[in-house]
Amino acid sequence: HADAAMYRAKQQGRNNFQFFALDMTSEADRRSTLERRLTQAIEEDRLSLAYQPKIRVDSGEVSGVEALLRWHDEELGQVTPDEIIPVAEDCGLILPLGAWVLRTACRFSSEWLKESGEPLPVAVNISAIQLNHRGFVATIEAALAESELPPHLLELELTESTLVQNPDRALEVLSTLRNMGVLLSIDDFGTGYSNLTQLKYLPVDRLKIDRTFMQGVVDCEQDAAIVQAVISLARCLGLHIIAEGVESEEQLAFIRQLQGHEYQGYLFSKPVPAEELKALLAKGHLVAAAAAEPRHAPR
Ligand code: C2E
Ligand code: MG
Ligand code: MG
Ligand code: MG
Repeated sequence: HADAAMYRAKQQGRNNFQFFALDMTSEADRRSTLERRLTQAIEEDRLSLAYQPKIRVDSGEVSGVEALLRWHDEELGQVTPDEIIPVAEDCGLILPLGAWVLRTACRFSSEWLKESGEPLPVAVNISAIQLNHRGFVATIEAALAESELPPHLLELELTESTLVQNPDRALEVLSTLRNMGVLLSIDDFGTGYSNLTQLKYLPVDRLKIDRTFMQGVVDCEQDAAIVQAVISLARCLGLHIIAEGVESEEQLAFIRQLQGHEYQGYLFSKPVPAEELKALLAKGHLVAAAAAEPRHAPR
């Protein structure tokens, strides 16, 4: 019996190894296909941006939007940014891709300002490679100049890991951008390991609390405690607080009770194409006001 068991284990081990090897090949295949198709998509201008509203907790008004990369490929179908960005970072596509995102987002916000007379700040996610590239500030300046967007209507979202990779460089670039009037925020806060004392020195304006914490605030005491602590820390540092991934009235009530400033999430709206966002905004503040009305008493 022992021999039989050993034999089975060996067989299984061998099979597992085969599966593993197969996974590696298909993963490598997938990556090279992605690389090839993405290069083409950028050249042929077949990428797009979706925009997700940010809502003021106190008034329920739309206070701005976050631009999020979308790519539907004929061969691969819908590919998510979580898959696109690492590939683009590895194969050097992130610079042209990032520049395209910046130009497109700035143009969108600028057009809305010209058409409606209303400012609509737009936030763009920035990869570490972009931040650390020496042409970064020039890319931002070009996107602003080309679109004629006032710098205070552009917000850059950087993750903690991006900021800690090269803190001196980050400090220098962020200071320059801040002096230009661009807004800066830390994205996915709580998931990285930024040195909290660094926060004090970085010229950032806002903290976005990661949605993994928001998921738990209603029924996980630890998550609730973390969010509470992050909000008080942010307040002490004079930072503006945004809660990501708010999906329920209960989560919104929690953030309202702690006096978070803004939220984003499916409760109000998923990220939507530019035209759909314009229609949503044109419907005006009624939608926003309804979402702001607390249906449940804060706990
Ligand atoms: P992120 O910047 O933290 O963006 C928020 C993500 O959460 C988005 O996913 C958004 O669709 C999703 N989300 C928003 N509200 C909810 C909600 O209520 N529930 C849930 N479950 N999810 C929600 P998405 O669009 O798939 O983007 C994923 C990440 O990819 C982004 O996370 C960002 O880090 C990165 N990314 C997206 N676009 C770009 C880009 O243009 N450049 C760079 N460098 N990164 C990007
Ligand atoms: Mg973001
Ligand atoms: Mg985030
Ligand atoms: Mg994220």
